[in-house]
Amino acid sequence: MSENTARNITTMGRLAPYQLVARAARPQGTRVHVGAVEFGGSEFVVIAGPCAVESEGQIREAAYAVAGAGAHLLRGGAFKPRTSPYSFQGLGEEGLRLLAIAGREVDLPIVTEVLSTEDLPLVSRYADMLQVGARNMQNFALLKALGATNKPVLLKRGLAASIEELLLAAEYIAYTGNPHVVLCERGIRTFETATRNTLDLNAVAALKELTHLPVLVDPSHGTGRRNLVAPLAKSSAAIGADGLIIEVHPVPEQALSDGEQSLNPSEFAALMHELACYVPLAARTLAGTPTKDAPTNTAGISRSYRQRIDRLDNALIQLLNERIRVALHIGKDKLATGLPLCDSQREEEVLQHRAAMASELLPTEGLTRVFRAVMDETLLAERKFYER
Ligand code: PEP
Ligand code: MN
Repeated sequence: MSENTARNITTMGRLAPYQLVARAARPQGTRVHVGAVEFGGSEFVVIAGPCAVESEGQIREAAYAVAGAGAHLLRGGAFKPRTSPYSFQGLGEEGLRLLAIAGREVDLPIVTEVLSTEDLPLVSRYADMLQVGARNMQNFALLKALGATNKPVLLKRGLAASIEELLLAAEYIAYTGNPHVVLCERGIRTFETATRNTLDLNAVAALKELTHLPVLVDPSHGTGRRNLVAPLAKSSAAIGADGLIIEVHPVPEQALSDGEQSLNPSEFAALMHELACYVPLAARTLAGTPTKDAPTNTAGISRSYRQRIDRLDNALIQLLNERIRVALHIGKDKLATGLPLCDSQREEEVLQHRAAMASELLPTEGLTRVFRAVMDETLLAERKFYER
């Protein structure tokens, strides 16, 4: 028995039946690359788009909306696994073609589901990442065929599959030669009927311990209800998921599938702003809107440092927006109770608290200058909002 094998222990203390995907086989974690996007690194990855590609206009509109809000990959099903044979089954190859065009237009890689072994060559020609749906998690012929490709795979947990079964499904793909696997918790069947599925956040924390593969969460299928998508997305970020896959439709009420769990573009944009506060809780960063136009090619200056600065600035701007939004709520309460918008005593307290976090890089005077500017800007926004 190799040393690695000896250390591949499950949370129950048993020797794990999977070896290649066990955390002990790669304690530092695996990074899976899809175009310029990296899963499993320090950046939190958001995949977004409609459940199904329905028309050229629909996928194009969805693509612009999710790219503009800062998503990193575009999703859209062309071959749909529907419970009823009478439901919309997807546009097939035409859907793949429209998805690929939309992805290229907004410069996002695309992920789409492959339903069967026979479809694999066709879907592989278009997709940057292949999705294995929940209903296919134990389609062993498909898993083996994916193992023989070099395409990154998004493997969704089966509706009634245990964590161990999910990991064994991933082991099939790795064992047959493809190590580029990203796992996805998408809710499981329980006795509960208030939600479509029960999103198992236990699984996320457990998987991070048991495997070195990146772990995503799908709060759309996990809850089945639009209003629950944002809270569960934020919880997933905080618990340490490597990213999310979210259904977004230009007009969810008109969607041909999963409209009741799809966000509209402005709900998705709001969620991306809110996520900026949750992603850092698990020591990850949220890359912002694409920074294609940023000057990243100055001789002698590292392109990746420039890109990191651009992304950090994006995150900062998102946080500042969020801070102002919260301040507007406080402003409303102040006005309701007859208090003035500006409270100098509270401002001094804030400055003192922030100054306590001074560092060598950002000393008290600098920190005070920055926060004075932030509070001035907030007050301006409040005045504009409430005193017009
Ligand atoms: C989907 O992502 O649209 C989908 C069908 O998901 P799942 O396989 O998790 O049900
Ligand atoms: Mn769906």
